[in-house]
Amino acid sequence: MEKQNTLLELQNYIGGTFISTRSYIDSFDPSTGKVYCKVPDSGHEEVSAAVEAAKAAFPLWSSKTSQDRSTIMCKLADLIESHMEEFVQAESKDQGKTVGLARTVDIPRSVYNFRFFASSIQHHTTECTQMDHLNCMHYTVRTPVGVAGLISPWNLPLYLLTWKIAPAIACGNTVVAKPSEMTSVTAWMMCKLMDEAGVPPGVINIVFGTGSKAGEALVGHPDVPLISFTGSTVTAQHIIEKSAPFYKKLSLELGGKNPAIIFEDADLKECIATTVRSSFTNQGEICLCTSRIYVQSSVYEEFLKRFVEATRKWKVGNPSDPTASMGALISQNHLAKVKGYVKKALEEGASVVCGEGIDVLSIPPEHRGGYFMLPTVIVGLKEDSCCMQEEIFGPVTCVVPFDSEEEVIEKANGVKYGLSATLWTRDVGRVHRVAKKLQSGLVWTNCWLVRDLNLPFGGIKASGVGREGAKDSYEFFTEVKTVTIKH
Ligand code: NAD
Repeated sequence: MEKQNTLLELQNYIGGTFISTRSYIDSFDPSTGKVYCKVPDSGHEEVSAAVEAAKAAFPLWSSKTSQDRSTIMCKLADLIESHMEEFVQAESKDQGKTVGLARTVDIPRSVYNFRFFASSIQHHTTECTQMDHLNCMHYTVRTPVGVAGLISPWNLPLYLLTWKIAPAIACGNTVVAKPSEMTSVTAWMMCKLMDEAGVPPGVINIVFGTGSKAGEALVGHPDVPLISFTGSTVTAQHIIEKSAPFYKKLSLELGGKNPAIIFEDADLKECIATTVRSSFTNQGEICLCTSRIYVQSSVYEEFLKRFVEATRKWKVGNPSDPTASMGALISQNHLAKVKGYVKKALEEGASVVCGEGIDVLSIPPEHRGGYFMLPTVIVGLKEDSCCMQEEIFGPVTCVVPFDSEEEVIEKANGVKYGLSATLWTRDVGRVHRVAKKLQSGLVWTNCWLVRDLNLPFGGIKASGVGREGAKDSYEFFTEVKTVTIKH
């Protein structure tokens, strides 16, 4: 009983007010395996209330100037930044990522998302054409869509949630957002800053709960004409079906099975350091993480030896340990799923060169119930094996040799996904040839995860529909109309 009282209890944020629910979901600290937080288990009732609040706030918010909206967004960014360390600690505890990653990536990027769209919204122009022979001119006008439904995953909680909220409200929409039920804390903390930032009640509503209840209620709500979703390909299929009868606008950012292609002329030192990072950052729980590494045969043995040495130095530890490179996986189920892939690989005749289970004695006693595993490298897999075809979304990467450019392009493209690819070569001609042929929304050459938010982000094939970025998000979160004037 005493323990119950110490649990953090979140509330929905609807119409500028914190509202409790009747039932709650347990949320676990991935680094201890213990329940530490109660998340509202919202359903139709709460989602409907949030949609009503968003509808009521829409006329005023959408009629503000973009400069006024921008000022409020910048204030919210400043406030999050002024509470940086609280957000950093909370994100690390909730998700299992290292505090170092939350401090250098997650929270600064969440702040930047607001600042970026607050600025970018002021730089768009619309088109105008002339038809002098008919005395006509045409121009386009863009208007906000209405109430935007935003659904985000657990791997980069505040980062990906604000990547949706910021462009949506910058364009004049009001929103109902549903973060992942496994990582809701930083979204709730952000709600506490809305009033001081001057966000009018009802502009940003956050409803917590599961996908099957709160998520489905949002997708199926007739007054939510637009859904921006980041998550798994399987959930996306469900969302497509559920929203089809309403003709909803959809943006879907989904899973990946991202290849790194390493040619013999690559700078191996830089390539190995970056590929360890691209495979294992955030416990491999980033949609852009490398999970298939193709290495040209002439440098395969050397690459593998040095890559494994570097991987063994990647320290797994308590997320608050400043020397840890990797923290805990998100949940018991997810850890079992990821380990299950390693087991399948062994059954399929592959070898684990390093990694998998962790020596519990290397972890402080209070963290021994946490969901830890070592960064794992697998070799000897066939192209059609589960580990080469399916998204594992954990610290597991597969290394495979190849001989020719044509062969590796075919292999890299031989999966259902097409999110990102990484290319390592000093040959500029090859970069152009290969990048063009890769079935992938993003191609990084001699680097990984270098992003300019102005440019399109998103995947092809089963990795998604639509793009996000300055222009792309602006187009998604607005409706365009062509107006013709005869003069
Ligand atoms: P998920 O699909 O299980 O859940 C994502 C969100 O959808 C959560 O908020 C969840 O509650 C909600 N949801 C689940 N079922 C729903 C339903 N029936 N209706 C409405 N909402 C529902 O994904 P996850 O496990 O949280 O995240 C991991 C996945 O996300 C991976 O596949 C990863 O690759 C992908 N991802 C993609 C990107 C990208 O930008 N492409 C970024 C991050 C993560």
